[in-house]
Order: sequence, then structure tokens, then C-alpha cells
Amino acid sequence: MSENHAKGADEKFCESCGSVIKKQAELCPQCGVRQKLEGKNWTATLLFCLLGIIMLNGVQRFYTGNWIIGLIQLLTLGGLGIWQLIDLILIIAGAYRDARGRLLVK
Ligand SMILES: [Zn+2]
Repeated sequence: MSENHAKGADEKFCESCGSVIKKQAELCPQCGVRQKLEGKNWTATLLFCLLGIIMLNGVQRFYTGNWIIGLIQLLTLGGLGIWQLIDLILIIAGAYRDARGRLLVK
């Protein structure tokens, strides 16, 4: 680890070589190792979505930071359940993204 190298707010250390790299980086430019992505937990989002189907609301949207869509889903009873099913399919397919556009982390 390069302890003496100042790390900026939008930077992190590479998990493999310890170089300072961008937080958004998927691959380290120094060693090419793929970084573990930061983001919301896939299993938790899936469970919240299943809960949302039972309760007819968009609880998984609140968890992943999409407050406005979550509120709309709450008011429309999860888009009458259809929206909840679409979210469920997206989560299972690995295409669901949180409010910051990040994929879920398994
Ligand atoms: Zn590296």
C-alpha cells in the first residue's frame, strides 16, 4: 500500500496493487485487476422486491435510493403489481440499477 500517497475523495486504493485509482474504476489502470464494485446488495434488493410484491409498494426502490419512483410505486400500489414484477425481472436478470446508476452487488 502506498501510504504516503494522498487519496482524494473520489479515489480509492486498488484491491490488488494498492495504487490510488478512481472510485468509479472497474479495472485498475496499473495492474488491470477488476475491482469489487460498491453498490447495493443484490440479495437484499431481491428480498425487498418480493416483500414489495406482497405489500404492493416499491420498498426496493427506497432501499436503492430511488425515492421518487418508490413513492410513485407506493401510491399506485406497485404499479398494480406490474411494476413490481418488472423490477423483480430486472433484479434477477442483473439489469437493475440503483439511483446512482450502479448495478447491484451479489
Ligand atoms: Zn492495481
